[in-house]
Amino acid sequence: MKNMEASLVGKIIDGKAFAESFRERIASEVSNIKSEKGLKPSLAVILVGNDPASHIYVRNKGLAAKEAGIIAVDHRLDEETSQEDLLQLIDCLNDDPLVHGILVQLPLPDQINPAAVIDHIDPAKDVDGFHVVNTGRLVTGEISDSKAALIPCTPLGCMMLLEDRLGDLSGLEAVVLGRSNIVGKPMLQLLTMANCTVTIAHSRTKSLKEICCRADILVSAVGQPELVKADWIKAGATVIDVGINRVSIPTSDNPEKMGLVGDVDFNGAIDVVGAITPVPGGVGPMTIACLLANTVTAACRQSKITPPKWRSN
Ligand code: NDP
Repeated sequence: MKNMEASLVGKIIDGKAFAESFRERIASEVSNIKSEKGLKPSLAVILVGNDPASHIYVRNKGLAAKEAGIIAVDHRLDEETSQEDLLQLIDCLNDDPLVHGILVQLPLPDQINPAAVIDHIDPAKDVDGFHVVNTGRLVTGEISDSKAALIPCTPLGCMMLLEDRLGDLSGLEAVVLGRSNIVGKPMLQLLTMANCTVTIAHSRTKSLKEICCRADILVSAVGQPELVKADWIKAGATVIDVGINRVSIPTSDNPEKMGLVGDVDFNGAIDVVGAITPVPGGVGPMTIACLLANTVTAACRQSKITPPKWRSN
């Protein structure tokens, strides 16, 4: 029985532990860059309005940056801020040589067009990797020289977990659930670049279960609690669950209790998978770590220094 439990534990991809050691490595690279090159990587984080979840995300990003030795400066603007005022702030940050990364926390209030804001950020400072120039460079496969794409943080984190677990991904069949610009589409590009054969599925896909069953690698980013059942998963597949869904999980002590689940029915899937990321503690911690890595990469490129190589493959 004990051996059986140990084998189930061995299937869990511990994104929290991976992200912690990755952040230690980032801190050590930052320390070397500071002492050897005199470069102090810095990140500007812009938050518009009062969304409580966004306040927590921004605070966590700032704390993580400081812990890694990255200078983090918050710019908090009120809910009524006009698009023009926000773009002016971005102009100043684009022109400031001491700012290497700019992040605008989404969502933005209704009077502001998020696409216009993202496209106003200097692509070299776009540490979220959402600018069309970075998107284009990712699609054309430019990811490793000085003009390379900054890769969106969540898909980058997923790739690092996959490469750590599986090594070479060449020839594997991958299925991505979800086609958002933030997760699904960049995931498709990254897996294709890693020589996987990739299918991308979405809300209009027919035979979703059958498509998922083909996957050696299944990445789910749909935001539907426990949509993916055990019998949608090929035996031995590696499952990356990006979804974060707040659901009610009543207990006898607390009938109102809320908790987080992924897009995958974890308890059913664990018996079938080769490996799986839990929610929470899987992909989420990698997203912030990759934001820090992107900030260091951006700072190095802007200073004509070769950035650290973050990925093993
Ligand atoms: P979006 O809402 O932008 O995209 C969701 C995608 O899922 C869409 O392409 C949609 O299809 C598809 N979809 C929705 N329902 C179904 C369904 N029943 N069957 C098949 N496809 C479906 O979400 P995001 O990409 O921004 O985020 C996805 C999830 O990942 C969310 O839970 C989010 O919280 C989480 N997330 C987690 C992060 C982390 O750090 N761990 C970071 C970013 C997101 P269509 O295009 O047809 O509408």
